[in-house]
Amino acid sequence: MIEPLLTMAIREEHDIFVVRQRGREVAAALGLEHQDQIRIATALSEVGRQMLAAGAGAQVAFHAVDGGGAATLRIDVRSLAPITRGELASENPLPVARLVDTLVVSRADAVTVVTMSRRLPPSAARLTPEHRDALRAELTGIAPGSPLDELATQNEQLVAALDEVRSQRDELARLNAELQETNRGVLALYGQLSEELEETNRGVVALYAELDEKSAQLRAASEAKSRFLANVSHELRAPVTAIIGLGRLLADSSSDPLTTEQVRQVDLIRGSAADLLGLVNDLLDLAKAESGRIEPNWDEVDLRLVFGQLRGTLRALATSPDVELVIEEPERPALIRSDEVLLSRVLRNLLHNGLKFTERGEVRMRARLEGGRWQLSVSDTGTGIPAELHDRIFEEFYQVPGSASARGTGTGLGLPYARRLVTLLGGSMTMTSEPGQGTTFIVDLPVRGER
Ligand code: ADP
Repeated sequence: MIEPLLTMAIREEHDIFVVRQRGREVAAALGLEHQDQIRIATALSEVGRQMLAAGAGAQVAFHAVDGGGAATLRIDVRSLAPITRGELASENPLPVARLVDTLVVSRADAVTVVTMSRRLPPSAARLTPEHRDALRAELTGIAPGSPLDELATQNEQLVAALDEVRSQRDELARLNAELQETNRGVLALYGQLSEELEETNRGVVALYAELDEKSAQLRAASEAKSRFLANVSHELRAPVTAIIGLGRLLADSSSDPLTTEQVRQVDLIRGSAADLLGLVNDLLDLAKAESGRIEPNWDEVDLRLVFGQLRGTLRALATSPDVELVIEEPERPALIRSDEVLLSRVLRNLLHNGLKFTERGEVRMRARLEGGRWQLSVSDTGTGIPAELHDRIFEEFYQVPGSASARGTGTGLGLPYARRLVTLLGGSMTMTSEPGQGTTFIVDLPVRGER
């Protein structure tokens, strides 16, 4: 137990002034700042006054406690007789408790002890025994002043405290004004931002409405186009078929004989009508596919059968001795959920193109199963397609300049139609090609059909 820095007794009113003065001196000696000195002095004199009022008198002891790196000033005020009335008799915390860090009222052997503590500034963190001795000597050396002196000091402190309160109030008023100003600014900014946001929102909404209207118009236009194509081609089919039939009748050996020139002209008419019928049929197919009027007939399809049939029907087309048509046998089990008719139509189209645009080498079709998808490829060693036209050949009526005219036939509708069908079957169609080397089309389809 470390010896107290100073002890003193409160027996009469005069002692209250002394204890107050001593409290301030101890606090100052331990490095507490002015405000804290007044706090300690006030708390101490108030506790002392209450003990005196309760008729007990008190013993005051000041300690400098060095605990765990943080030094504190501890003041024990011990009553000289049991206390039974007033605030000190109750368990409620005293109002002066807010002037110090901790204030505890306890009772031991019919005596009331009030223990107060206040943390000391870091400069007093390490209190050596020599330091304490020096403090004790200093404090005992100070002569106690008279109550009048203490009253004067107290008055001075009160004036200073009042001054400080006033300046704090002024500062508060200034801060409030500033805050109000800032608030007004923030509100104005907020209002402006809200307005801008509202304006932008209105713009976006209008834009969306316009966009919706435009896409509805686009949809309507596309539907009208498909309807027009379907109607026109449908209407054209009958007369064109009639022309072909009439041509056949004219050329028939049982009809009146024609001159050689007439036979040539009738053949020309029939040829042109047949081309026209091809175009009309292609247009009708494409219009149907685009208008969504083709509903795939989903079924379990054996690719080996499809490939076999194509091998049979296309052999007649591969007439050139310099071009070989190779249709590889797909590995077992070559099953896919799809529409057999539509799938055959796509592959026939690609094989047909391959044969049409290949003069030497081969046209090869093969099937490969990869990660739950069938990759059906049709490759040829033909003319190839320049890179900048790779997208264009999928446009309606587009033909690579010179290519089709050199080979006579074609409408430029085959590839857009084929790609449309592949999409309907839940897959995609891609192409790689190099002029002079050849072309490969890949149809990628999910084994399980519909997505
Ligand atoms: P069409 O064959 O009736 O002309 P497509 O839509 O099938 O119409 O093809 C469009 C064009 O793409 C063809 O005219 C041709 O120029 C080009 N093309 C298609 N397939 C091939 C191919 N295998 N090799 C080279 N060019 C091709």
